[in-house]
Amino acid sequence: MELLEQRILDEGIVLPGNVLKVDSFLNHQIDPKLSMAMGKELVRLFDGTKIDRVLTVEASGIAIGLTTAFVLGVPLVFARKKASVLMTEPVYMEKVYSYTKKESAEITVLQKFLPAGENVLLVDDFLANGEAALGMARIVEKAGSEVVGIGIAIEKSFQNGHKRILDAGYHLEALASVASLDDGKVTFVR
Ligand code: 5GP
Repeated sequence: MELLEQRILDEGIVLPGNVLKVDSFLNHQIDPKLSMAMGKELVRLFDGTKIDRVLTVEASGIAIGLTTAFVLGVPLVFARKKASVLMTEPVYMEKVYSYTKKESAEITVLQKFLPAGENVLLVDDFLANGEAALGMARIVEKAGSEVVGIGIAIEKSFQNGHKRILDAGYHLEALASVASLDDGKVTFVR
């Protein structure tokens, strides 16, 4: 997606440890117009797939998850990363190692928001080693539903997640695929 790639080139900052900082439009400040364009593009990429629900992880997946779900006309559910006193009912929980926080978190979804027998699209802001996406996929499968796709805003194709997700047999689409962050420079897959 050219619009997203241009924003990454204009505003992205490469941090040590192969981390791309895009907090001016995706990870802290959010650009609603760009988020809507990303949601529309994800829906186009999964055209022909029946989708009943979108699942993402708080916090940075929510903007793009919301626009995707809005365009599809289906609910968005976000997994929480921290236990909440509001979660007094049965939950699905999976341990996920965070690439940026360097610690494990238990991502949690109330069971009532993931009914069985649905087709679920997973959405996230970044794909690195695939921990978050595969954790969400385990939750959907525990719930008795099917993961019909994984839609990512920015995937770092040189890390493990891309291969792990394809090896597991999921349909993966990314709006921008980064081939390298070497020498502080963003290069896209062509
Ligand atoms: P994974 O679970 O695939 O290893 O990592 C993806 C998760 O870690 C995303 O939900 C995202 O929040 C975070 N993440 C991984 N790599 C990056 C990165 O380069 N930049 C930012 N901003 N977040 C990242």
